[in-house]
Amino acid sequence: MKVNKAELLISAVSRKQYPEDGLPEIALAGRSNVGKSSFINTMVQRKKLARISSKPGKTRTLNFYNINDELIFVDVPGYGYAKVSKKERAAWGPMMEEYISVREELRGVVQIIDVRHPPTADDIQMYQYLKYHELPVIVIATKADKVSKNKRPKHVKQAKNDLQLDKEDKMILFSAETGQGKDEGWSAIQNLM
Ligand code: GDP
Repeated sequence: MKVNKAELLISAVSRKQYPEDGLPEIALAGRSNVGKSSFINTMVQRKKLARISSKPGKTRTLNFYNINDELIFVDVPGYGYAKVSKKERAAWGPMMEEYISVREELRGVVQIIDVRHPPTADDIQMYQYLKYHELPVIVIATKADKVSKNKRPKHVKQAKNDLQLDKEDKMILFSAETGQGKDEGWSAIQNLM
C-alpha cells in the first residue's frame, strides 16, 4: 500500500477521546524496545511518525494515527518493560482492556516480537489475551536482518510453537532495516479490513 497521509489524530487515555470517524482500526502491540515504532515508521514510510525508543516515564497513551483516511493504526504502549513504574503499569491494563473490549472499529492486532529470541512470557500472555478477546492477530517477527537467513525458518517455527499460533493467524518475518515483510504485512492488514 502506498501511504500518502499518516498523521497523529490523538493520544488518548480514555474512550471519550477516541476518534469518531468510524475508520477501521488496527492496534499495534509489543514489548518495549521490540521495534514497534520502527515497524510503524517502515510501514508508513516516515522516519519519525512513531517515536523510536521513546523512554517510559512520559505519559503512556493510545496513539491513533490516520493512514490515508482509510484506516487507523492504534499504537498501544509497550508492555513488559521492567523500568516502568508500578503506577504506570497499573494504568496500562485498564486502558488496554477498555479499548479492546469496547472498540467496535477494532479489526485486529499486529503483535510485534523479536525473531532473534523465543517469545517471552509477556509475549505469550499478550497473544493469549488477544485470542481470549477473539481478535485476529498478525504476528510480526521483526529484526530478521539480525538472524542469518538459514536460521530464520527455525526461529519462526519455534515462535509459532511457543505462542501456539492459531491456524488463522499469520506470522510474518520483518525487518525495518531491509524492508523485508512490508508488502506481506500490508496485505495481511488489508485482509483484516
Ligand atoms: P519500540 O520501543 O518497540 O518502539 O522499539 P523501536 O522501534 O524504538 O526499536 C528499538 C531498537 O531496535 C532501535 O534501536 C531500533 O533501531 C532497533 N530496531 C528496530 N527494528 C529493527 C530491525 O528490524 N532491525 C534492526 N537491526 N534493528 C531494529
